[in-house]
Amino acid sequence: MAVFIKNDEQISFMRTASKICARTHELLATHIKPGITTDELCAIADDFIRSNDCKPSFLGYRGFPKSICTSVNDEVIHGVPGLRKLMSGDIISIDIGVCFKRFHGDAARTYACGSIKETHKQLIDVTKQSFFESLKCCTEENRLHDISNAIDDYVKPFGFGIVSEWCGHGVGRQVHEDPQIPHTRQEKRGPRLRRGMTLAIEPMINVGTEEIYMLDDTWTVLTRDGEYSAHYENTVLITDGEPEILTI
Ligand code: MG
Repeated sequence: MAVFIKNDEQISFMRTASKICARTHELLATHIKPGITTDELCAIADDFIRSNDCKPSFLGYRGFPKSICTSVNDEVIHGVPGLRKLMSGDIISIDIGVCFKRFHGDAARTYACGSIKETHKQLIDVTKQSFFESLKCCTEENRLHDISNAIDDYVKPFGFGIVSEWCGHGVGRQVHEDPQIPHTRQEKRGPRLRRGMTLAIEPMINVGTEEIYMLDDTWTVLTRDGEYSAHYENTVLITDGEPEILTI
């Protein structure tokens, strides 16, 4: 495992990329309404990212055909934007990667379209809070899998399924780099966290089973039982004190 510790200049590039990533989310949030297509959301994001002298990290990444990922309802991650129109009651997870001077910031949020079921509101809230629970462990005294265990401990009592086949990851020089960050309980505490590490922690939580499958498009990951799924992710910098969320 090769974990890249970032220097101050590299962190400053990541800070810029991550800020634009966060602003793109804020912009898209204002457009999530019944009738808009996922392709339209993608175009708005792409334009905004490029107008800020950045590039969308995901376009062309391992052949991904679009600039952001849009995963609706039972789609967990890696949904490909297209002609699908959002309807009231839908939830949509949007994952955005932004690149500035070859450094990346990565963040995902799940949004409600119109009025949604109470269960889905709770799903979105629990997913977000599980990230913030794990953030408490993001200090140099702690180890990588303390992050995983904090998410698992928080989510399990709600009875939701935690996706284990897809993990968080190091981010910065690449969209995905070491270390892999599981979101479910691990036996060992893993490697120690060190200042200068930049981690994308991204719990994916399902109303029902944690089991998933992939669509024939070889991208879209869905829940096996058709229940809805939520996603929350930020790029986090480990420091000598409190962690810093770069994508906020
Ligand atoms: Mg992401």
